[in-house]
Amino acid sequence: VIAIRNLHKRYGALEVLKGVDITAHRGDVVSLIGSSGSGKSTLLRCANLLEDSQQGDITFKGEPVHWKGEGLQRRPADPKQVLRIRTNLSMVFQQFNLWSHLTILQNVMEAPVTVLGRDREEAEAAARKYLDKVGIGDKADAWPAQLSGGQQQRAAIARALCMEPEALLFDEPTSALDPELEQEVVRVIKGLADEGRTMLIVTHDMKMAHDVSDHVVFLHQGLIEEEGAPEQLFGAPKSERLQGFLSSTM
Ligand code: ATP
Ligand code: MG
Repeated sequence: VIAIRNLHKRYGALEVLKGVDITAHRGDVVSLIGSSGSGKSTLLRCANLLEDSQQGDITFKGEPVHWKGEGLQRRPADPKQVLRIRTNLSMVFQQFNLWSHLTILQNVMEAPVTVLGRDREEAEAAARKYLDKVGIGDKADAWPAQLSGGQQQRAAIARALCMEPEALLFDEPTSALDPELEQEVVRVIKGLADEGRTMLIVTHDMKMAHDVSDHVVFLHQGLIEEEGAPEQLFGAPKSERLQGFLSSTM
C-alpha cells in the first residue's frame, strides 16, 4: 500500500531522516522502534505528507507522489493527490486530539461528513458501528472529558477507522496511558491486526510490537539500523545498538 524509498528530511541544519526505506504491503503490520529523537514521528508525518521531505520517493498504491521543486523547495505538486493520500492513511496520535466541544459521536462523524462529503445518516451509522467495534458504543453521547484516557484513545481509533482508510498510522498510541488503560488499546490494535488491516505503528511498547507486527524496523539517528521479523529482531538482535536499546526498554 505504501512504499518509501531513500527518504531524506531535514529541519534547517538538522538532518532527521538520512535515507530511509519502508514498505507496508496490504495487510502488513510494520512497527517502528527507536530512541527518542531517532525520527520515528517525522517518518510517519512524511509518509502521509503532513511534513515535507527533500529527497526520495513515496508511493501510495503504486502511485508515486508527484513533486515540484527540489531540495528544501520540494513540495507535493498535486493537492488532490495529497488529500487522497492523507485521507487514506489515517493517523492516530499519542494525545488523542478529540475536539472537546463535540460529543464522541460527533467527533467520529465529523471528517467523513466534512472531508468525504458523506451523508449524515450514513456517517452516523458507520460511527456507531466503529464505536461498538472498539468497545465504547455506550459512550456515543458523552463528551471527551467524561471518558478515561483509554476510552478517548479508542474513540480516536474509531474516528480514524470511520474514514475507511487503506492504512492506519499510529504514533505512540499507548504512551500517554496508564498501564491498565494501555491494555485496552493494545487489544483493539491486536484486533485490527488480526483483521488484516495495514498499519504502521510507532511504539515504545516492545511487547505489542512483538505480538502484532509482521515486520519491525529499528531506527537510529535517521537511518534503519536493523529490521526483520519480530522473533528475529527481539529474539536475536544483531546490532549492538539494538541490543542496547532493547535492554534499556525491557
Ligand atoms: P520520540 O520517541 O521522542 O517521539 P521521534 O523518534 O519520534 O522521538 P522525531 O519527533 O521524529 O523523533 O524527531 C526527530 C528529530 O527532529 C529530533 O531531533 C527533533 O528535535 C527534530 N524535530 C522534530 N520536529 C521538528 C520541527 N518541527 N522543527 C525542528 N526540529 C524538529
Ligand atoms: Mg515521536
